[in-house]
Amino acid sequence: MSAAATPPRRIGVLGAAGRMGQMLVRQIGETDGATLAAAGDRAGHAALGRDAGQLAGLETLGIAITDDAAALFKASQVVIDFTSPDATASYAALAAQHGTALVIGTTGLKPEHQTAIDRAAHKIAIVQAANFSAGVTLLAALTEQVARALPALYDIEIVEMHHRHKVDAPSGTALALGSAAAQGRGLTLESHAIRGRDGITGARPMGPIGFAALRGGDVAGDHSVIFAGPGERLELTHKASGRQVFAAGAVQAALWAVGKPPGRYDMRAVLGL
Ligand code: NAD
Repeated sequence: MSAAATPPRRIGVLGAAGRMGQMLVRQIGETDGATLAAAGDRAGHAALGRDAGQLAGLETLGIAITDDAAALFKASQVVIDFTSPDATASYAALAAQHGTALVIGTTGLKPEHQTAIDRAAHKIAIVQAANFSAGVTLLAALTEQVARALPALYDIEIVEMHHRHKVDAPSGTALALGSAAAQGRGLTLESHAIRGRDGITGARPMGPIGFAALRGGDVAGDHSVIFAGPGERLELTHKASGRQVFAAGAVQAALWAVGKPPGRYDMRAVLGL
């Protein structure tokens, strides 16, 4: 006799009217073992009350976009949040109150937002990643490895390009790659970063990790980590050709997070790397 099938995991989406939110609604619909439990967006958003499926270009799902976050957390086993930094910090506290696992994709978080997430992670499992693609997760691991292997004589520069609508720079992914490089070198990124150059900057000092951000068109996300040494240059590059790869990774993380003990997890843990 075969075991009874596990019921699909009930997933809530915050920021459901946004670009990533709509993609998450579509991705949940395409993922075995997942079902959309609730869809939320901010108070006053024009999409409140609209059907989340219809808004995402699917059939009617019977789930209206709500600003009642407490009801959303109550209805969900795990919630995926792609909103904005202040919203994410307050949703982390709400998730902890409800004992609901949380997947955070929002970028541009400041230390005070991270502190709120740390606090919530004492009560619930939280998976946070600046980039949910498997390729970027591997790129971060490789960056750390190469940074550890090459001497400090090799300057590390990180170049990223994104679509014209992106509001934060450098991208969360670029900063995560910078942290991976810094970790490989036994440094902290906070005290070893050059976040932009303009005018007479003087010669490049040895040690800090440089960032350059390009914006334009509909680029889903390009990242290169460049190790420039005497007589040679090693470049590691990832290009996302669409944003679906982020939604697929976030839904995979959500399914993984259900039932995990409280704590903070990243995509390396989800992928078992
Ligand atoms: P977007 O502006 O299209 O969508 C954000 C949505 O969040 C909007 O619908 C907005 O109304 C909603 N929102 C804002 N405040 C809210 C609140 N208090 N409660 C509920 N909803 C609220 O932006 P986007 O392109 O979908 O990106 C969203 C975030 O995800 C950004 O921080 C972006 O950098 C990040 N992102 C992360 C990854 C990743 O893999 N981690 C990939 C792509 C985008």
